[in-house]
Amino acid sequence: MKQLIIKFGVVVFLLQLLVAAVVSWTLGYSGWVLLASLTAGTLIVIACYILLRPLAALQRFIGVDVDNQFASFQHNAFDWIQKTLQSLEQQLEQQSIELAKYQERFDAVLSGMIEGVIAIDESGKILFSNRAARSILSIGATDVIGKPLMGFVRYDAVQQATREALKTQKIIVSSFQTYDADRRDVRLRVAPMAGQPMPGMTLVFHDVTELARLENIRRDFVANVSHELKTPLASIKAYAETLRLGAVYKAPENLQFVVQIEQQAEVLNQQIHDLLHLARVESGREAFSLEPVDLIKVCHESISQFADEAEKKGIGLTFNNLINAESICYVWADHEALRTIIDNLISNAIRYSQRRGTGQSQGTVRLLTKLAGPSVVVEVIDNGIGIAPEHQQRIFERFFRVDRARSRELGGTGLGLAIVKHLIQSFGGQIELQSRLGVGSTFRVVFPRFYKQE
Ligand code: ADP
Repeated sequence: MKQLIIKFGVVVFLLQLLVAAVVSWTLGYSGWVLLASLTAGTLIVIACYILLRPLAALQRFIGVDVDNQFASFQHNAFDWIQKTLQSLEQQLEQQSIELAKYQERFDAVLSGMIEGVIAIDESGKILFSNRAARSILSIGATDVIGKPLMGFVRYDAVQQATREALKTQKIIVSSFQTYDADRRDVRLRVAPMAGQPMPGMTLVFHDVTELARLENIRRDFVANVSHELKTPLASIKAYAETLRLGAVYKAPENLQFVVQIEQQAEVLNQQIHDLLHLARVESGREAFSLEPVDLIKVCHESISQFADEAEKKGIGLTFNNLINAESICYVWADHEALRTIIDNLISNAIRYSQRRGTGQSQGTVRLLTKLAGPSVVVEVIDNGIGIAPEHQQRIFERFFRVDRARSRELGGTGLGLAIVKHLIQSFGGQIELQSRLGVGSTFRVVFPRFYKQE
């Protein structure tokens, strides 16, 4: 405490010396002034000493060491400030780590998105763009941040939608087709970002090419189904009308009309049956009872089934098994479905082969089985009308028929090969076609051979 008082006194004394010097200087070195100020200074020091003495006595009385207290207060204060600063620094560091992680995750999510995303500020400069967006807009550069979006976009639809959204600050939806070889169909949604004033816009690009393709297939399918069903229905209606208008009393026409109605009803029935079957197989809802099926046995069953029909149509139907007769050849499949596959191929071969005695070569249909490495091969070979190369690609499509009228006349629905293909794929197999117009066709089915542990 004493030290504190002395320090205080010295400081005051020096200060008053300084004041006296300045005052004397300004008043022209007046000796009186200097003396007066020195006296005043000395008096102040004495006054301080007198005034602070009771304080020192009080301190001694209550036993508090003010110097030490002051020093410890000083030390604690610095310590606290230092600790607070350190904790603030740590918090800041933690927050920037969290922010970097969040940014990384955000970038990863946006980069992995199939949808293209671009964010722009209110002046149209790019804030962010993911890979999908750059690919859709064919932007080669990756360093696009801070550059105007319009400088990269060639599509009018995108430019217009962005301008309009920036102007109206409303959501704008648009669509366009890309200029690249894929000609992708893209749907665009430009939406303002939340905030006042609006900080910018997000542009989201959806590649809807596959969706559009599926929609086209669906539309074609519905059109085809309606058309296919309408034809026999129109016939039934026409025959029934003719009967109602008087033919019902005229024999033998009335019987012919009834037979026609019956036949057309059967066509309708077959079409609906095939359609439902195809829908079940395609959607994977067909309940197969999978087991090792003896392929040669199934082939014999099919041959017996068509023997009479082939005979009647003058077609020579034979089965040629090149697989060692002693070993049973199994395929992991559903017995009924395997029959459907082979039946369909034999039925088509008979249907599209020439008749005996037409003056042309004799119609023959040959079913052949053989092994090819780990696979087993079934071939249905005919010397019928054959299929032109331009039609061979489409032969397994639903409702595709080379000659619609001929197929319908022969009781075809145009769905047989589509069903066959899907069934074969369900059992891990493949189907190929080799055909020459006017020479004949070979449908080759390959299944993985299944080895049964006896
Ligand atoms: P369809 O019920 O009309 O026979 P498919 O799906 O079984 O329907 O066959 C589709 C089309 O493929 C047939 O309309 C026919 O034009 C052609 N086709 C199928 N098999 C043969 C074959 N063995 N020879 C010639 N053409 C065939």
